[in-house]
Amino acid sequence: MDTTINLLDLNVNMLQEKLEALGEPKYRAQQLWHAIYQKHIGALEEATTLPISLRTILHDKFRLGNLTEINELASKDKHTTKVLFGLPDGHKIETVLMRYNKRRTVCISTQAGCALGCVFCATGQMGLDRHLTVGEIVEQVLWASRKLSATGNKLTNIVLMGMGEPFHNYTNSIAAINRLEDSTGMAIGARRVTVSTAGHAKAIKQFAKERRRERLAVSLHAATDNLRDQLMPINRRFPLDELMAACRMYSSITNRRISFEWALIDDVNDSEEHARDLCKLIGNIDCHVNVIPLNPTDQFHGNRSNEDATMRFKTQLDESGIPCTIRVRRGLDISAGCGQLKSENTVGIS
Ligand code: SF4
Repeated sequence: MDTTINLLDLNVNMLQEKLEALGEPKYRAQQLWHAIYQKHIGALEEATTLPISLRTILHDKFRLGNLTEINELASKDKHTTKVLFGLPDGHKIETVLMRYNKRRTVCISTQAGCALGCVFCATGQMGLDRHLTVGEIVEQVLWASRKLSATGNKLTNIVLMGMGEPFHNYTNSIAAINRLEDSTGMAIGARRVTVSTAGHAKAIKQFAKERRRERLAVSLHAATDNLRDQLMPINRRFPLDELMAACRMYSSITNRRISFEWALIDDVNDSEEHARDLCKLIGNIDCHVNVIPLNPTDQFHGNRSNEDATMRFKTQLDESGIPCTIRVRRGLDISAGCGQLKSENTVGIS
């Protein structure tokens, strides 16, 4: 059993305490912090600002991360990379790096699996294994940064939209975001971070009260309780009335525009009536709607809507004055699209 401490689970004060306990001066913790979060070292041996003797001691007592890369897949167009990581307890997670136009975005997981069971989602179909630690969430971003810097590029955006519901693992997700935004470390701007929730109304209110500056995306997919109960079981806990009240509270406290996500499913939520219901539901909220034709998963038999239905849906939103974008489906050849992540890669495992 590995008894070392994961350095990525420590904030700067904790790191300082650990090094002070080893008899090291304060600035050594700052040097190590800098090496991890600004230089993005991949191993303690690379922290060359520290004396070799200290690196040897650190190596015995600490480890730099929990994730082991099991498999990496690149889409045919080379714009999307998906990696399957193993965790020390045998669970697995996936992380996706996307490079489109000028954006380089990493989509990170906050849980191994997910308890919320949205019926169209591969992660939901597998159930929850466990919450990720702060270090495990942050490490996915460090992986992406290292990967990009190898080709002279920099990460521009982070979305907490991979496996899991970030607000079900609220404390660790927020602590990880704080770490990523820390001005003495990676210094990622809050506006470049998007937190995506399936509609955890209580946590949305908390997020609003804390006046968080990150972007908020709410997966809606249905505008009536009857349909949403069937697609997203979380709706039975936080029905639409409560969810919309939380969204309005978020909007009024933060003055931020919400993104509503809508996976368009043939004959399920893509009719003119569904679009009308949606306009009625969100019409008085400052928002933007992202329409995503459904991505296929093994255990859900619904299909993506055809182009006509997709355009009709968008037109109705446009006519009601609700900004709407049809998102291009990407990375499908490696199952890296929204709702397709799971702990088992079926393609290309060596
Ligand atoms: S869509 Fe998100 S919240 Fe729903 S089951 Fe999948 S990972 Fe969980």
